Amino acid sequence: MRDVAPPAGRHGRPVLILGGTAEARALAAELDAAGVRVVSSLAGRVTNPRLPVGEVREGGFGGPEGLAAWLAAEDVAAMVDATHPFAARMTASAASAAGATGVPLLVLRRPGWCEEPGDAWHRTGSLEEAAALLRQRARLGGAVPERADRPPVRLPGAGPERADRPSPLLRVFLTTGRRSLPAFSGLDGVWFLARSVDPPEPPVPANVRVLLDRGPYTVEGERALIREHRLDVLVTKDSGGDMTRAKLVAARELGLPVVMVDRPPLPPGVRLVGTAAEAARWACHHAAPGY
Ligand code: NAP
Repeated sequence: MRDVAPPAGRHGRPVLILGGTAEARALAAELDAAGVRVVSSLAGRVTNPRLPVGEVREGGFGGPEGLAAWLAAEDVAAMVDATHPFAARMTASAASAAGATGVPLLVLRRPGWCEEPGDAWHRTGSLEEAAALLRQRARLGGAVPERADRPPVRLPGAGPERADRPSPLLRVFLTTGRRSLPAFSGLDGVWFLARSVDPPEPPVPANVRVLLDRGPYTVEGERALIREHRLDVLVTKDSGGDMTRAKLVAARELGLPVVMVDRPPLPPGVRLVGTAAEAARWACHHAAPGY
């Protein structure tokens, strides 16, 4: 764990931001500018993370009990969970620790992405479900399995409609993060272009090319990548936001189907906002009552 001393002039009970996202950094900047003492917490897994302004600590707390102890020891005024929408363990831990200590908790989540005209999305509830969809398509050819509420999404690549292709492999643009690759290992008939900030850890799929990169991305860049690697389908998590939205625009333009992994549900009863500005108002109020 690494701790950074508070900047001069920041005193009083801190607001804890569980971070690792652009929204968390924006919130830290807003609160710091408003004179509120902020401690941002990072998981500490990314090499060279983008650091927020204000105090920073890194590393896990040791589960909900560890977080509750930390909140009490630091006399935290309020906590904002601004972690990534898929950081479900940290979010559950925050809800549990808030309940145990009485520290007010707000969840800041950027809104998810919405399907637009021209999109061909297939939503799945998990990475495993997304992998099963690819396996089925690579094995059988044809469409993604039909759902009762909508027509099937066509996934080109292995079927007779693409018999001119030099390779029979389904070529997948995988942008679900480096720790998601094990869910896709063991798939036959699939080739992956897997993009992540840091190198993935094994097990990884047999047919994979790893592209290390960090957003924001442009539509032109994403279009070029899809064309260069002759990609057939995009697999992504519903992270939301603008930093990585360009791939969805490029997929729409090029007629690429998208397998969209849905967000895990929030713990029941938590208060939720969608912007750093709303979270800043809430946190200012709790850090300095009457603000
Ligand atoms: P996770 O599975 O929910 O968290 C696993 C454990 O890592 C937590 O139980 C906690 O350990 C520790 N942890 C996570 N976030 C932390 C934070 N902000 N400060 C201190 N400890 C933290 O989360 P994850 O998917 O590994 O994500 C880790 C971090 O990367 C998050 O902060 C998230 O915002 C960021 N991130 C995640 C994704 C993604 O797709 N999941 C994408 C971009 C950025 P203890 O139980 O020991 O407290």
